[in-house]
Amino acid sequence: MSDEKFKKIVSHAKEYGFIFQSSEIYDGLSAVYDYGQNGVLLKNNIKEYWWKSMVQLNDNIVGIDSAIFSHPTTWKASGHVDAFNDPLIDNKDSKKRYRADNLIEDYLQKLELKILKEQKNQEKRFGESFDKKTFLETNPRVINYKSKIDVIHNRFSKALNNDDLSELKKIIDDCEIVCPISGTRNWTDVKQFNLMFRTQLGATKTSSIDLFLRPETAQGIFLNYLNVQKTGRMKIPFGIAQIGKAFRNEIVARQFIFRMREFEQMEMQFFIKPGSQKQWYEYWKKERLNWHLSLGIDKSLFRFHNHEKLAHYADAACDIEFNFPFGFKELEGIHSRTDFDLSNHEKYSSKQIKYFDSVDNSKYTPYVLETSIGLDRMFLAIFTSSLTYDKLEDSSKRVVLKIPSILAPYKCAFLPLLKKDGLPEITKKIQKKLKLNFSTAYDEKDAIGRRYRRQDAIGTPYCITVDHQTVTDNTVTIRERDSMNQERIHIDKLEEFLRSSLNINNWLLNSA
Ligand code: ATP
Repeated sequence: MSDEKFKKIVSHAKEYGFIFQSSEIYDGLSAVYDYGQNGVLLKNNIKEYWWKSMVQLNDNIVGIDSAIFSHPTTWKASGHVDAFNDPLIDNKDSKKRYRADNLIEDYLQKLELKILKEQKNQEKRFGESFDKKTFLETNPRVINYKSKIDVIHNRFSKALNNDDLSELKKIIDDCEIVCPISGTRNWTDVKQFNLMFRTQLGATKTSSIDLFLRPETAQGIFLNYLNVQKTGRMKIPFGIAQIGKAFRNEIVARQFIFRMREFEQMEMQFFIKPGSQKQWYEYWKKERLNWHLSLGIDKSLFRFHNHEKLAHYADAACDIEFNFPFGFKELEGIHSRTDFDLSNHEKYSSKQIKYFDSVDNSKYTPYVLETSIGLDRMFLAIFTSSLTYDKLEDSSKRVVLKIPSILAPYKCAFLPLLKKDGLPEITKKIQKKLKLNFSTAYDEKDAIGRRYRRQDAIGTPYCITVDHQTVTDNTVTIRERDSMNQERIHIDKLEEFLRSSLNINNWLLNSA
């Protein structure tokens, strides 16, 4: 997808009240965004869809809402004080700052794109007789690109795993990577940069203590492991889920809501018996992909990606990547966190954090399987894959946000055909019966066609139009967003119609 298309997505999000730049009247705050009147509804619906699938459908998963602040030792124990760093590099000419690993990843992606371009050219030339496999194995240019990718990739993952900053710099030099702004290779050395935001608790200088804004919601779950396990009498395996804000002082925060400095995570930590982590890792990989697919989003937009460098806490980790307008990027992480977190909190707090397993009378520190998805990235994935420009029969264009109807800000819009003859009053009366159970909109301004377009643009799956026939036979027209099909339906049947097509369980159980 081109930059142009991405720009259109960003401006659609603003124009229709989904996402605004934070503090826009003061020229904005970098990588901080606010959700508008439609955005908050979509965001809440994504949260609800996740929460229901995790907490409501699983007897052994409960939810919590822990504070954003926690005791500062939390972050020493979790390893974030020492290891939550990104490798940073500056271009001396443009004075722009980059993540060294991102520069190399982008370089590798460009080589991949070159291979794809060669392939596309040949495909065009030879049509049906094109043999992709033989071409990719024998074409000298492709072979050359591939071997370059392999060599750089190996050096890159070794450097990441060994925290070898000078090798990262050397790769950037060897690949002749230039700054996208200045176009020069005038780079500083690579340095580590800690991503946590600091703040202070307390009013006086002497009594105040330094705190961190949490960079992930997970630690709030670990700190409450014992509380929840004991008060909920939870038996392993069990999970604790949480949705909440996280803060990271990202070095490069671009790409709209993909990488923000204040964002929201939906995380679930699943506590298991040591030794069973492989089995649960596979289980949650499958479950989470199914959750995404249950929304009806094209399967080809997702892929798994194994981590090059395992985080300090993990013994296995992968991402579910989504094909965003700027390529496949991480949407959700699935991490086998071992007993790293609980053991360290045990060590630093000197409190016993063990589980007594009555099945075999054993006592152990539970292992943890984590699923962690960025709510804002999920929003972006839904938004970018849904925004479509339909060409109509009369060759006019229609902008439609084909979001899964279960997530739509408004489930239906009520539209009186005319603003007279009592039609608005009848419409509002029908709407009143439904608005408690469904999020609904009402619009009486402009011609009906323009009103349909407005609802299409914010993804409303159904438009219900009240006309003169309604007065005589109590029927209304119901128009479906994607097909634009219209049918007449009795007003007594409306609730049942909406209930069956928007029943969250029907969607979620799709993934079972
Ligand atoms: P990335 O490699 O993109 O920086 P990460 O591996 O650091 O992400 P995790 O620590 O695994 O991310 O966080 C879990 C999820 O939180 C990610 O999959 C992503 O969806 C979301 N997330 C992380 N950082 C941000 C951010 N700065 N803005 C928005 N969402 C984020």
